[in-house]
Amino acid sequence: MSSQAVRSICVFCGSSPGALPDYIESAQALGGVLAQHGIGLVYGGASVGVMGALADAVLAAGGKAVGVIPRALWEREVAHTGLTELHVVESMHQRKSRMAELADGFIALPGGIGTMEELFEVWTWAQLGMHRKPCGLLDVAGYYEPLITFLDHMVQQQFLREPHRSFLLLDQDPQALVERFEHYSAPPVPQWIDRAQT
Ligand code: AMP
Repeated sequence: MSSQAVRSICVFCGSSPGALPDYIESAQALGGVLAQHGIGLVYGGASVGVMGALADAVLAAGGKAVGVIPRALWEREVAHTGLTELHVVESMHQRKSRMAELADGFIALPGGIGTMEELFEVWTWAQLGMHRKPCGLLDVAGYYEPLITFLDHMVQQQFLREPHRSFLLLDQDPQALVERFEHYSAPPVPQWIDRAQT
């Protein structure tokens, strides 16, 4: 299967800045890489935390940043008013489905439970064959090492199949991860899904 053009990538990340400067710096680096590659950013539309730093970096490098924010979070997450586009939606579910429609792939930077929830949903959809877009985790300063250890445990305990685990691309370097997205070929849809759909 040949790789598909990556025009936009949805990035999930914290609405907080985190404890280390590395988290904001990695968001800035990823933002610059996206702009250099002519890849638009889709994200949660906030101006705060890692989210805000990411969008600012994309815009400063001349790239395109599209935000999707629920009306109720407009004030709490301090909606970014300088974006290329800001979509205001009515619910968290609409936010996630709109971001998924607009993007050709998904990356998680460091973040909290919102970031985890968003990543695990799109990864689950990939496991079920509901989309064939790449999903990646950018591990900054070892933030995701405990999660990666837990994923190993899930495989060992046979709750996660190794092929499904490998759907999630792991990298520490934003440039390398984006290049892997550009050359990504989706693995075959699991046979049991094929059978269920026929
Ligand atoms: P956090 O990683 O917890 O800082 O959250 C990152 C972003 O995910 C924030 O914009 C949250 O509002 C958002 N978020 C949290 N839970 C959900 C959800 N269930 N659906 C959509 N976005 C969410």
